[in-house]
Amino acid sequence: MQTMAAFKAIVIDKAQAGQAGQTVRLADFDDKDLMDGDVTVAVQYSTVNYKDGLALTGKVPVVRRFPMIAGIDLAGTVEASSHPAWKAGDKVVLNGWGLGETHLGAYAQKARVRGDWLVRLPQGMTARDAMAIGTAGYTAMLAVMALERAGLDPARGPVIVTGAAGGVGSVAIALLAKLGYEVIASTGRPQEAAYLKGLGAKEIIERKELTSAVRPLGKERWAGGVDAVGSTTLANVLSMTRYGGAVAACGLAGGMDLPTTVAPFILRGISLLGIDSVMCPIAQRQEAWRRLEADLDRAKIATMTTEIALADVIDAGQRIVAGEVRGRIVVKIG
Ligand code: NDP
Repeated sequence: MQTMAAFKAIVIDKAQAGQAGQTVRLADFDDKDLMDGDVTVAVQYSTVNYKDGLALTGKVPVVRRFPMIAGIDLAGTVEASSHPAWKAGDKVVLNGWGLGETHLGAYAQKARVRGDWLVRLPQGMTARDAMAIGTAGYTAMLAVMALERAGLDPARGPVIVTGAAGGVGSVAIALLAKLGYEVIASTGRPQEAAYLKGLGAKEIIERKELTSAVRPLGKERWAGGVDAVGSTTLANVLSMTRYGGAVAACGLAGGMDLPTTVAPFILRGISLLGIDSVMCPIAQRQEAWRRLEADLDRAKIATMTTEIALADVIDAGQRIVAGEVRGRIVVKIG
């Protein structure tokens, strides 16, 4: 007989009949209402990514099933498993795969998931470190790996990171600086210059330099970059990329459109590299986490991280969508 057990979770539900929108609250959730999965995880930490903010505020229809436990990222310990790769006590990380969108998510003391989605927590990392990195940081790593596959290296010239003071941006700066790149950070928060330089940025440019009208080709300023902003910002980054360079597109904090021309591609041979973290194949995830353990300075993670409790997640979701969060937020759960 299955035991009934309730645990705390951030639950998103549809508003009552006749009312628009959704409700979000810290609630008791019953074990028996968890979805199918071959591994049960005791969640220790989660995090707040931009997408979590979109889900929590309902600004964009991220959530595809109701009720939903929000949260796209978790780190914790396997409690029970019928999956051959995992046993009770294993330390695991899960990013994406529809968690918090189509599958009950991470802002809960317990998650039941598919063992095929899990990555082993790197030995040198705690669950908190892994969530300080989270989807934002793992996406920054995927972007750096894509740039490397495209042939970028520090000798080719400086690289730009947009949305620099955000999660993807902060981790991208720390990674690229550690790998020897000269990093230019683009931010709408010049007051964060000292923070960005502490992460390893050499130069800070104002966001507005990249939000003006896009010329098909601009002055060649960088060999490549990591873009978390999209829209006019990405279009300007492309038009200012040096001959043969590469830019990884991973975000849309500034908009989903891309008002560019083919000029950077056909006249300068530039590559635009698409980055997806959600359905990324497991081998690439494992490599990304291996690289994060090797190439991300733990002291820098500490400077970019603030910790909150599960009850504070709803407020943090509003702040991240408003562009007010610096670096990364970890959520202490277990
Ligand atoms: P954050 O909110 O932490 O960072 C986004 C940053 O973008 C902000 O800190 C701000 O940086 C900048 N920004 C915000 N609003 C605007 C605006 N209107 N115009 C220009 N710049 C803006 O979010 P994350 O780092 O968690 O995510 C960044 C983006 O990457 C999001 O769009 C997210 O959806 C996407 N993403 C995509 C993934 C994928 O799989 N492809 C995975 C993870 C994230 P500053 O103040 O320095 O200017």
